[in-house]
Amino acid sequence: MFDSYLRESIIGRAVKAKKIKIKFYNPMDFCKPKERVDGRPYGGGPGMVLQPEPFLKAFSKIKLKNKKKTKIIIFSPTGKKFTTGYAKNSAKKYTDIILISGRYEGIDARVKKVLRATGYVVDDISIGDYVLTGGELPAMVLIDCISRQIPGVLGKYESLEEERVSSSEVYTRPEKLIYKGKSYKVPKVLLSGHHGKIEAWKKGLTKS
Ligand code: SAM
Repeated sequence: MFDSYLRESIIGRAVKAKKIKIKFYNPMDFCKPKERVDGRPYGGGPGMVLQPEPFLKAFSKIKLKNKKKTKIIIFSPTGKKFTTGYAKNSAKKYTDIILISGRYEGIDARVKKVLRATGYVVDDISIGDYVLTGGELPAMVLIDCISRQIPGVLGKYESLEEERVSSSEVYTRPEKLIYKGKSYKVPKVLLSGHHGKIEAWKKGLTKS
């Protein structure tokens, strides 16, 4: 699932340049042959819950340098909402970030309890108010967003863009686009060369 995305473009280049390193641990590899990774939920209800031991066994294989510099993130649709601010803070404060993706009805809550009890920072994170089938896409979203906060991952041009007022509406050539007989023009202000007015126009877009 991750392979093609992580090999492409900015993230692919960051991996190649060793600006970021991504490793995978599959809890299923920590089950005995024919042993299931999931179980019926205590208290009843539909679906299956991922058992704690395979996750904890997988976790014990991760070589971590510094507990204080390690953050663990468990994905859940009801978790704290992921933001750019969170990504910036995580990239600045932590050298190792462990992303735990669930499936089915989620992961046995004791995984979080054990990891917290052993002194790790563990956050419950949601990427939005919708339910996905698994935590793989949320993991990719975080890898992408946190990586671009790491110095050297974005090129000079893109980092510069990041600091400027970004715009939801961008234009390039042609100045006048004709589509099915109708003409669509680039907003005049963008052709004015007036930096202050252009920035104000962009800010106006962000607010609306
Ligand atoms: N009832 C479960 C809960 O509230 O956590 C829903 C589990 S969901 C079907 C399966 C997994 O997908 C979750 O354990 C989580 O890893 C991931 N997931 C689904 N939607 C998500 C979202 N919006 N943000 C982050 N992770 C999500």
